[in-house]
Amino acid sequence: MVDSDTKARLFIDMPLKVGAMIALASDQMHYLMHVLRLGVGTPIRVFNGVDGEYLATITEAVKKRCSISIKLRLRPQTHCRDLWLLFAPVKKARLDFIAQKASELGVRVIWPVKTDFCQISRVNYDRLTANAIEAAEQTERLDIAEIKPFSSLLTVLRHCENERLLIWCDEASAGHPALNIATALTCAPPHEKAAVLIGPEGGFSQSERTHLQSRINCLKISLGPRILRADTAAISALSCYQSICGDWLK
Ligand code: SAH
Repeated sequence: MVDSDTKARLFIDMPLKVGAMIALASDQMHYLMHVLRLGVGTPIRVFNGVDGEYLATITEAVKKRCSISIKLRLRPQTHCRDLWLLFAPVKKARLDFIAQKASELGVRVIWPVKTDFCQISRVNYDRLTANAIEAAEQTERLDIAEIKPFSSLLTVLRHCENERLLIWCDEASAGHPALNIATALTCAPPHEKAAVLIGPEGGFSQSERTHLQSRINCLKISLGPRILRADTAAISALSCYQSICGDWLK
């Protein structure tokens, strides 16, 4: 199909509708004109996370200006499943990696969480958002994972509704066959909303454990016999979730 053959796919943070003419931001102009070397008349696909996906063509590509014209709506807006990733942030490169991979794996919300043993004190919100956008452009998803502000575990848990299944990845459960994630998710109660919780390199504190243990709808699980790094744990848990309860079943 000609439309899905259109390789370039851009997130544009503006209202989109057929007939609109849009002047692109300089980074997007650079990407289309100098990285992909596209010229006037080339079709591209655009989406904004709200109005669906559109076919557009480049109408102007001169030195510092690139404009597109929106031709046709290709897909109505859809949203990924209501799955959150709550995680204690790690250092830069692996943090980027988590944001990219979680977006690829279809999470709706990425929420950096301050836990007792978390070593990181600041999170670059714009950088995480840029990673989520790039992953959405690449994976064909129509929405962008929402990046929440870095908040304490208690604050995040307060926002986590009781009906949201909380999948607590607990390093102390590692290798506990009774708690393995596949069995736990296969037997999990039916639910529309879920959240995966990953701790910091230092693990969860005793008071965090006590709090999590007392929560309703909280599934304490093991990700196998080895202690994984936080980024590996996040991707493993999200993949298991999507394959057993989520959109890999489609
Ligand atoms: N320093 C800790 C490990 C922390 S690993 C220790 O040695 O005990 C970072 C996070 O990844 C953990 O808090 C947990 O959420 C997750 N994780 C890593 N390996 C896991 C496993 N085998 N089972 C469940 N969760 C795991």
